[in-house]
Amino acid sequence: MAFINENYLKLPGSYLFAEIARRVTSFKDENPTADIIRLGIGDVTQPLPAACIQAMHTAVDELAKQETFRGYGPEQGYDFLIEKIIETNYTKRGITIGKDEIFVSDGSKSDCGNIQEIFGTNNIVAITDPVYPVYLDTNIMAGRTGILTENGTFEKVTYMPCTAENNFTPELPKNRVDMIYLCCPNNPTGTTLSREALTEWVNYARKNESIILFDAAYAAYITEEDVPRSIYEIEGAKEVAIEFRSFSKTAGFTGTRCGYTVIPKTVTGRSQDGSKHDFNKLWNRRHTTKFNGTAYIIQRGAEAVYSVEGQAQIKETINYYMANAKIIREGLQAAGIQAFGGVNAPYIWLKTPNNMPSWDFFDKLLHEVNIVGTPGAGFGPSGEGYFRLTSFGNKENTKRAIERIKTKLKF
Ligand SMILES: *Cc1c(COP(=O)(O)O)cnc(C)c1O
Repeated sequence: MAFINENYLKLPGSYLFAEIARRVTSFKDENPTADIIRLGIGDVTQPLPAACIQAMHTAVDELAKQETFRGYGPEQGYDFLIEKIIETNYTKRGITIGKDEIFVSDGSKSDCGNIQEIFGTNNIVAITDPVYPVYLDTNIMAGRTGILTENGTFEKVTYMPCTAENNFTPELPKNRVDMIYLCCPNNPTGTTLSREALTEWVNYARKNESIILFDAAYAAYITEEDVPRSIYEIEGAKEVAIEFRSFSKTAGFTGTRCGYTVIPKTVTGRSQDGSKHDFNKLWNRRHTTKFNGTAYIIQRGAEAVYSVEGQAQIKETINYYMANAKIIREGLQAAGIQAFGGVNAPYIWLKTPNNMPSWDFFDKLLHEVNIVGTPGAGFGPSGEGYFRLTSFGNKENTKRAIERIKTKLKF
């Protein structure tokens, strides 16, 4: 008899998007002519930048010829890509990162999910609430949590509520925590942490020998000058932070798959005997054992993101989404609804009117104005009373949706 990893039994079913789909289907069955607009999309919709497509075409042709064929590449990624990443995202911002401190991957979800493997199983995990579910679920699978309790939280996990009351800035925990997941700009709230708040976190981590797992998947959406693009802009962060980046939202790679993780060699943890060890070494061992590299064609596509044309093209697409974000944010505010985010991220997080439960607001929006969004409660207990709209739709539909909210939604 093979036994199972019973930690998996602690996981609740993937209820959120299945439940949304169920409610939308049932509404459509009853109202077949309803013109439903989806503002719940968590995926990009605009095509890949032309520069990337061209680079990928060229790479395909290289693979067709004996002289330029390539098989396995370095597990950590090709130098041509790593050098561009360092130059554009770090050196230009005054941050020194070495080539062997970058690990190219098939995307950030895998990296955010796998990173916990190089940490001790007794570590205390801290997550913001609401949160991107990957951080919590992968720690449940690894056995770092107890079971789900009645108030919607898992035992042994430190939840850091992020609500309008604290300006979506997690407070430093009273108990000591070891692994701190921060996502900035944030999915789902669309908000960012200030330089001061991030500095407090870095200082906390240095004092407590904790590690910050910093998800910067939406860094390219930051428009305000004073919001850090990378946690390494904060002094001392290179001792305590691991950063995750992705080409998915930056350049439309959600389907083509490419991301990377930065682990400075100065980031250390301890073994039980008290001696210090580099997380970089552990991750290198894991990565080279369990991963055989991102496809050459895709890495060439990612490299093209950093070309002059590539940079202009991603900017144009991001501006397109951010124009939608503005339409949503300002439209909601005009309708008397409190709305957050949408300035440095493609997400708008609204406060449901009269504190309506987020699933009730979902039904109201679907039934009264035929708009689909995502209930905040699906991202954690502190998401209750909030609702997420995204700017990944097309402009016309986004405008029409907001017009309906302004003119037809009744409270
Ligand atoms: C989309 C997203 C990612 C990126 O995922 P990929 O696997 O790179 O596509 C990472 N973190 C958050 C919070 C996201 O929303």
